[in-house]
Amino acid sequence: IIPTFFNRMNTSTSQQLFAKAQNYIPGGVNSPVRAFRAVGGNPIFIKSAKGPYIYDEDGNEYIELINSWGPMILGHGHELIQKAVSDAIQDSFSFGAPTRREVEIAELIVSMVPSIEKVRMVNSGTEATMSAIRVARGYTGRDKIIKFEGCYHGHGDSFLIAAGSGAVTFGTPDSPGVTKGVANDTLTAPYNDLEAVQQLVDANRGQIAALILEPVVGNMGCVLPKEGFLQGLRRICDEEGIVLILDEVMTGFRLSKGGAQERFGITPDLTTLGKIIGGGMPVGAYGGKAEIMNYVSPAGPVYQAGTLSGNPIAMAAGYTMLTYLNEHPEVYTQLENAGSKLAAGFRSSMEKLGLRYTLNQIGSMYTLFFTPDAVTDFPSAKSSDLPLFGKYFHAMLNRGIYMGPSQFEAMFLSTALTDAHLERIIAANEEALVEIT
Ligand code: PLP
Repeated sequence: IIPTFFNRMNTSTSQQLFAKAQNYIPGGVNSPVRAFRAVGGNPIFIKSAKGPYIYDEDGNEYIELINSWGPMILGHGHELIQKAVSDAIQDSFSFGAPTRREVEIAELIVSMVPSIEKVRMVNSGTEATMSAIRVARGYTGRDKIIKFEGCYHGHGDSFLIAAGSGAVTFGTPDSPGVTKGVANDTLTAPYNDLEAVQQLVDANRGQIAALILEPVVGNMGCVLPKEGFLQGLRRICDEEGIVLILDEVMTGFRLSKGGAQERFGITPDLTTLGKIIGGGMPVGAYGGKAEIMNYVSPAGPVYQAGTLSGNPIAMAAGYTMLTYLNEHPEVYTQLENAGSKLAAGFRSSMEKLGLRYTLNQIGSMYTLFFTPDAVTDFPSAKSSDLPLFGKYFHAMLNRGIYMGPSQFEAMFLSTALTDAHLERIIAANEEALVEIT
């Protein structure tokens, strides 16, 4: 990567903060992908954000395509959510006791997500997936799970096996520190490969508790399920008594009001949620069939707890967000239109420039992969030209577009983006492609 690509804007305050951060925080960041390692250069430090814009410590303005990795589906600083949070704060920050808001958000989630009959709130997507496989294990009395190569389900030990997102960005899809015993209980299959799943199931009969996947993957970049893939997994799980867990931490309340499961017409046994469900506050949830969820303590024997679980401020933000989405179906029409417009613009630029890169897009999620080949699984995602992505990333950043700093991430659109913003992104994309090729 040519250094002149980096930070054509004045980012001197961010540089100083990053230098200082590295003295006190491992790698200078609290979550690895934020460090920009995959794209070169140093991260920008964010001061504030409003609507479709995010502002760094040096006062530069960028159009937002990360949106906190998904939660800010209505853009930043939505007034209803801000009001709900400031109202809730008047009643104190945390009680560690049951509250009315927890009941209300649970009732709302059950009404919005077709397969969820009972739900438990936690503090992050990682907690949700860890807890979901524990209850699946408790329910089935089996130990093993199946996950897909390149899917990311948070940083729980069982999932850091052939993991996507930051784990693959940093070359550690199998993390040191995960014991062999745990790793041996996680079986992996290639995404979109039903036959491979069937073979794993045949070879491990009566031993597999759960199969977990992102129904649309965001964490190897955006990758869509092939026709029949999700239905095939449902059939295999039914035949073998395996708990099917859809990890909708990214796709929940984004790909439709009821998530990917509603969009693709598939009914999981358990669902994991995060991101949007907290409206920007730290929240996760897992839920599903009452028969399975009733294994969770104190209804049943599978232990799972949390000092701050169901935190009243987070519940106020999440409840307001979900209520808004529930009452405004036009949000999803707007997001579909925005995604289609962006995709059409990107495709027409590539055609004009004679470039053959692969754009995967569904609704308000997309990734431009720097490979001419279809991207349907982890190997095809990894065949992308990663240094070229790094140049593209900086060419976009220099044009005021703030994207996920890795080829293995999905971009997230928000309803705060107007047609004018989308046109600016399309124009920046075309200029960036000209600059880097
Ligand atoms: N599952 C999926 C599909 C995710 O995308 C993520 C995070 O990006 C997680 C789980 C983990 O969520 P969290 O980062 O809140 O722990």
